[in-house]
Amino acid sequence: MQENYFPDKRKLYRLPWSTNDNPIGWVEITDICNIHCDGCYRLVMGEGHKPLEKIKEEILFLKKWRNCDGISIAGGEPLTHPQIVEIIQFITDNGMKSLMLTNGYALKEDVLIRLKKAGLTGLSFHIDVTQTRPEFKKIKPEKETDLNDLRLKCATMLRKTVNMYAHFGITVTRKNLHEVPDLLKWAIENMDVVGGISLITYRGVPVHEGIEFRNSAGQKIPVLPGSLGYSVLPEEMKVANVTSKEVYAVIKKAFPGYEATAYLGGTVDHESFKWLIGNFIVNRKGKVFGAYGSKTMELVQTYYHRWFGKYLVYPKVKMGKRIFFMSLFDRAVRKAFGKFLLYCLGNPFRFFYKVKAIGIGVIQAPDVLPDGRVDMCDDCPDMCVFEGKLVHSCRLDECRKYGSLLNVSVTTQEAKEMIRKSREPETTVLS
Ligand code: SF4
Repeated sequence: MQENYFPDKRKLYRLPWSTNDNPIGWVEITDICNIHCDGCYRLVMGEGHKPLEKIKEEILFLKKWRNCDGISIAGGEPLTHPQIVEIIQFITDNGMKSLMLTNGYALKEDVLIRLKKAGLTGLSFHIDVTQTRPEFKKIKPEKETDLNDLRLKCATMLRKTVNMYAHFGITVTRKNLHEVPDLLKWAIENMDVVGGISLITYRGVPVHEGIEFRNSAGQKIPVLPGSLGYSVLPEEMKVANVTSKEVYAVIKKAFPGYEATAYLGGTVDHESFKWLIGNFIVNRKGKVFGAYGSKTMELVQTYYHRWFGKYLVYPKVKMGKRIFFMSLFDRAVRKAFGKFLLYCLGNPFRFFYKVKAIGIGVIQAPDVLPDGRVDMCDDCPDMCVFEGKLVHSCRLDECRKYGSLLNVSVTTQEAKEMIRKSREPETTVLS
């Protein structure tokens, strides 16, 4: 893989979020789900729906200690919770936005209308081929694009019923990495209903005699395949551990106009990109003009914090062509504006085509490094509450099941080598 396809940290904006001043809080309201996803972080442990009073406590805790702009409602499947409308209303009443992460299977128009009335700000659908869902009996998907009709059905319902753009979360493995450009092409073609796509790379920790897990008291914990959402057989590592740099490279190769804008690095690996945020500035005809630059993101975060006292995560304002005013401050937008003007010169009617930014997030969840250190997202935005403490939601099950986060030791050369190999970039992706 060519190095120049990788993002350059020096040109990107490092999001200024921290543990106590972070725009996102994460609340899991149930461990019940109506489908199955490979690589899901959450085990069904029979806890069922969380009581409303406990959920309210967690929301208030996050409001107090995180200074949240928005709360992500997750699970399990949030739509299975009988008090989902009251939960959204409580978040609204506390002056925060709400984003629900759902597989969309139980979503109906009347529910959507009630959620919107309660103040729901956004909705992110998780639909991909790593899932086992009832619709698949008919669709029998073999590749990601086989699911585009299902995605479009959900997004159209959202737009028509409550006038919201749909966001999609998709798990990226070595099996579907090459499909990322097709997914983004689909998002661009459907910009009237799609607001953004998050590409979440599937992480795995191999169960191997050379890898030991210990709890905070130092006791050895027997972790087996399936004991945690990410404890897998060594052979499954072949599809896991795509890095966000590889995803960036694949997008950049297919869409040279794409650029990342901001990032969060890793807690121990200075090279990693744990969150990589970018976008496409596109028009209705699918023409990509470019992307926001780091200056736009810096101005937005700084201005919002100055005036509203928080960092921003789910903007409610739709910018449309007004984004081009950022040309005054941002070279990347200036470049996109130049391309837009050239395009309009070819046919002045093109000026009236709708212009929009489609968000692209790439998330690379925890990595166990060959030396046993665990590289987390620096200033993790998706922290939830466990027994009065903040915990990375991706590792909540370690606490639920074993009482604390687990420490990892990689004790044999063979295990170190296996981990190292699984992190090597895909050489065929760009060829
Ligand atoms: S550390 Fe885990 S929970 Fe936090 S943002 Fe990264 S993936 Fe999400």
